[in-house]
Amino acid sequence: MNEYLVDRKYRNLLFKCLDHPPQFIGTHKNPRWQMDCPICGAWRSQLVWIDQRNTYKFVCPSNSRRNCGLHAEFPVLLKVWNPALYLQFVQEREDEGTVGAGFNCPRVADIAPQRRSRRQLKWRKCQVPDQVNEPSDDGS
Ligand SMILES: [Zn+2]
Repeated sequence: MNEYLVDRKYRNLLFKCLDHPPQFIGTHKNPRWQMDCPICGAWRSQLVWIDQRNTYKFVCPSNSRRNCGLHAEFPVLLKVWNPALYLQFVQEREDEGTVGAGFNCPRVADIAPQRRSRRQLKWRKCQVPDQVNEPSDDGS
């Protein structure tokens, strides 16, 4: 049991945002929380410690069609729940040195910036009209 400090910080943040405080139902060696699903609100979702992965895994029960049924490790849960917060989280994990190969969290450079620049290129193409052959308005 060795939760990354950044994970603990954001887990506590998530816990504070839930309508009902999560209940600890595990043991010291195998921590486990029962909580409302932050995505769909389903009762009895669980956050289960996975020792081999050094992270919590979130499981939303898929026994009802109204549930989102999300099964994801903590960083992905954060990403689905609050994308803006997730970016902040990834930045802090990178500062902590727990991103990239061998970790369950990508580098900052592997997410937002690349996507953003690609999108900007597309926007520029769409927004700049082709005026090469048109005369200018001021008569020069
Ligand atoms: Zn859910």
